[in-house]
Amino acid sequence: MTVEAHKETLEFKAEVSQVLDLVIRSLYSNKEIFLRELISNASDAAEKLRFEALSDDGLYEGDGELRIRVTVDRDAGTLSVADNGIGLSRQEVMDTIGSIASSGTRRFLENMSGDQAKDSKLIGQFGVGFYSAFIVADKVTLTSRRAGLSAEHGVRWESDGRGSYSLENVEKAERGTVVTLHLKEDEKEFLDGWRLRTIIGKFSDHIALPVEMAKELYGEEAEQKKDEPPEFEQVNRGTALWMRNKSEISEDEYHDFYKHVSHDFEAPLTYAHNRVEGTNEYTTLLYVPKKAPWDLWDRDQKHGVKLYVRRVFIMDEADKLLPHYLRFVKGIVDSDDLPLNVSREILQHNRKIDTIRQANTKRILGLLETMAKDEAEKYGAFWDEFGKVLKEGPAEDFGNKERIAGLMRFATTHSDSDQQRESLDGYIERMKEGQEKIFYITADSAAAARFSPHLEVFRKKGVEVLLLSDRVDEWLVSHLTEFKGKQLQSIAKGDLDLGELADKDEKEAKEKAAEEHGSLLEHLKKTLGDRVADVRPSTRLVDSPACLVVGEDDMSANLARVLKAVGQDAPETKPTLEINLDHLLVKRLEAESDDERFDDLSLVLFDQAQLAEGGQLADPAAFVGRLNKLMLNMMMAGG
Ligand code: ADP
Repeated sequence: MTVEAHKETLEFKAEVSQVLDLVIRSLYSNKEIFLRELISNASDAAEKLRFEALSDDGLYEGDGELRIRVTVDRDAGTLSVADNGIGLSRQEVMDTIGSIASSGTRRFLENMSGDQAKDSKLIGQFGVGFYSAFIVADKVTLTSRRAGLSAEHGVRWESDGRGSYSLENVEKAERGTVVTLHLKEDEKEFLDGWRLRTIIGKFSDHIALPVEMAKELYGEEAEQKKDEPPEFEQVNRGTALWMRNKSEISEDEYHDFYKHVSHDFEAPLTYAHNRVEGTNEYTTLLYVPKKAPWDLWDRDQKHGVKLYVRRVFIMDEADKLLPHYLRFVKGIVDSDDLPLNVSREILQHNRKIDTIRQANTKRILGLLETMAKDEAEKYGAFWDEFGKVLKEGPAEDFGNKERIAGLMRFATTHSDSDQQRESLDGYIERMKEGQEKIFYITADSAAAARFSPHLEVFRKKGVEVLLLSDRVDEWLVSHLTEFKGKQLQSIAKGDLDLGELADKDEKEAKEKAAEEHGSLLEHLKKTLGDRVADVRPSTRLVDSPACLVVGEDDMSANLARVLKAVGQDAPETKPTLEINLDHLLVKRLEAESDDERFDDLSLVLFDQAQLAEGGQLADPAAFVGRLNKLMLNMMMAGG
């Protein structure tokens, strides 16, 4: 059966030109990265072929020597990157290259804010890969044939990157892909062999595949061999970086390799390279990025660790190599002992993989511990980017709970800064004599936490409180109930038990007060009805008249709000109203003889307490009405 040329011209989606514009503008200062992106794609294509060929040798079509060739045609002003990897079928070209439907670009579009400065920063986090060619080219031609299909199943894609692209079938004898860039007038520097060799050296030295260029010929030799096909030579080192000896690898090389595996534009924050010998032999090279990727919170987020078996690339996104809460880590694991035909299913229940995963986890935790100890500032920056992810750790990884908790940093009342910089160890060192618990408060912002009335007695006694305001914190404290033998205790729950911290006289005075003011408490309870579970005198308050408290085992008011905000049901829990019997307002309330005014004041107290902890009122208009009424009364009384 012959394949017709079947040429068609298709329109890009509207946003595509927009993305291309943005890509070109934002990456212009870094334009040579297009070569890294194209060589990366070529190298991925070779790795995919090697993997598919494990079960179908025929895909090699008799030529198993995988390589990438970079060639230039000075007369035509073109630069080409050719691989003999897996190649693409017509449908695959349409799906991946044609529509910019590749997930990276599409997600990028979805995340675009319209604010150019912001969006340019975003670009670094996406694999806009192939399209970076348009930084230097005004026309790009991609010719490809999938391994295993016959020569007439080649396909040619061509576009000027403006509005449309064309697609047609062509003959292509060699499997794989050739990407040809028609360089813009002022980008002809990329025709220069030495310039290209330098860039390739920088970005592609460590990929495990030879990158070849035609030998440069001069003078007489050039004249003689003018009409002969060019002779190719390897221009990169071509050995997998991770196989080399640590002592022979420079910092720059580690960084360049990171950029290759992660598509990041920035250098990593830190990394660890290790070879493990014994019954389970493997090498790992793991990196912690500086910046969180855009999809850190995406459930389908790709994991950053690639699995190799004896230098053969097996799979991307091997999520079994690290726990979920370390999903920001990028890098590779190369096993000597796993079977080459290892599948995702096998990974699920493989003892060797479990061991590697545990070792990787310990390695990363160790790396972070060292950074936290020796480079506090750098660690702070790490925490700002990835702290929220690490806070998922105690729930997921029971065995390492205490180590993970040790890595956490919090805003606390110890300092005025809302930056999360205090550790639990630091907290424990600062604990007051007689203090047995680690106290915390959760709220939906650091400010709401910091100014909560619940904190008053702690301030007075100089007891530090953790201010938790990340959404994940509720999840964290439900799993991290203890650290180094010290219980974590919410200060907004239950009957506040300050233990040894409590002033004995104070306590007795309160108890007596409760008896003495029994009728006020009863009256309030009656007025507030089923809004509250109980009304009692408070031991928490100093300056505020009232606050709300939930039961020890009830869901915190903050968590209930978080759940509602994400559209989930939260059980209705009735709070207890605690009142400050020393407060003038409360005293005034107690002396109130007018029933209507008593009701108004009680309800205002209750609503205020809700507002003070960041809650929303069920009936704000009624609150304002009551408040105005009380103010008017006051003004008239004042004359
Ligand atoms: P990404 O590599 O981040 O997915 P790209 O825009 O670089 O984004 O590439 C999109 C897709 O096009 C790739 O995922 C791959 O499927 C395909 N592709 C690109 N270059 C090649 C190539 N040289 N050989 C085979 N497939 C390729």
